[in-house]
Amino acid sequence: MNKRQLSRKPRKIAFFSLHTREPTHFGSGWMSGVIALSLALLGLGVVLCIKFPSFFTLPELRSLYPMVWIRALVLLILSSSFLAAIISLTLRQNKAFGVSALALLVPAVLMGGHLAPLGNATANAYIALDWHLLNLIFFCLIFIPLERAYALRHTQPVFRPKWRTDLLYFANNHIAVQTIALLVMLPAKLFFGWAVITPLQVWVQNLWLPLQLIGILLIADFCQYWIHRTLHVVPCLWRFHAIHHSVETMDWLAGSRLHLADVLITRGLVYVPLFLLGFSETIILAYGVIIAMQATFIHANVRWRFRALAKLVVTPQFHHWHHSSEPAAIDKNFAVHVPIWDRLFGTYYMPQRWPKEYGLAGTEQVPNNFWSQFWYPFKALLKANK
Ligand SMILES: [Zn+2]
Ligand SMILES: [Zn+2]
Repeated sequence: MNKRQLSRKPRKIAFFSLHTREPTHFGSGWMSGVIALSLALLGLGVVLCIKFPSFFTLPELRSLYPMVWIRALVLLILSSSFLAAIISLTLRQNKAFGVSALALLVPAVLMGGHLAPLGNATANAYIALDWHLLNLIFFCLIFIPLERAYALRHTQPVFRPKWRTDLLYFANNHIAVQTIALLVMLPAKLFFGWAVITPLQVWVQNLWLPLQLIGILLIADFCQYWIHRTLHVVPCLWRFHAIHHSVETMDWLAGSRLHLADVLITRGLVYVPLFLLGFSETIILAYGVIIAMQATFIHANVRWRFRALAKLVVTPQFHHWHHSSEPAAIDKNFAVHVPIWDRLFGTYYMPQRWPKEYGLAGTEQVPNNFWSQFWYPFKALLKANK
């Protein structure tokens, strides 16, 4: 045995860790592992919805599902997941994706797989798992092909650094949507009920619906502008908002990275004027859909500049500059719907190019994972008060 062979350390084999230095290119078993795990999660979710509709499905959607097609789809999902898991296990030294996918497939198959008996839908308390799965599929189907076809950064992969953290934010924001909505409405109802002027609310509700929609977008964005600007200026609030600005790779998923306190402060305060003005439920729902779509879109990795519209509506380029780490772009572009507020209050910044880099440029040491990010602002507050 020569000297070189003796000094060589045995290679560390990461069989199950998700953090591995193994390559992720085509043929490395990484893509098949991700597909296997995603399909296994989806398949298990659908089987749970079939077997326990009372607990996992939305009553309004139950009667709409074509069960024959859904069962055929489950068979396709589960068998594709199994096949992809075997490919990944064969090609890849790290077995985390393959083994996790198989571990999820076992309960799905044990519950009957595509033949799982349809359970009774009687209970009143439910988690709308079907709705969340449809939501995730909807966003993936729209934004992933869009970012592939019109990418601003062509070399940026779908599974870019920290995608798992942001997917957890996405899932969490959607699963907790009912609780978040209740918490958002609570301060307005608890503390501002006294300020309601019924004739004003009746007048607003009788306005032409498109006019109500324009009104709600302008008013909500005006409030959002000032709350957002405050979050940037007040140090203890900035720590919460810094989580959102720790994003260094912009794509549709990046917009989900928001601390729960950031969501509750911003949405809770924006809701106060909407509550006082008494906008109809339909308009508030439409506003909710617009903000969900626009907030996702303005973070997307798309190169569209919307030159004609950019002065009226917030575009991806406008919000990408809000996330830029270039000194001239710091504390600029606070609006989410209409850039008019930034123009009026002197924070509009829109060079005719795209930012080179995003993030905090080392000004805050925001940790990488979901739970560490959750505790980060609280720890920073405690440190500052010591
Ligand atoms: Zn911001
Ligand atoms: Zn953002």
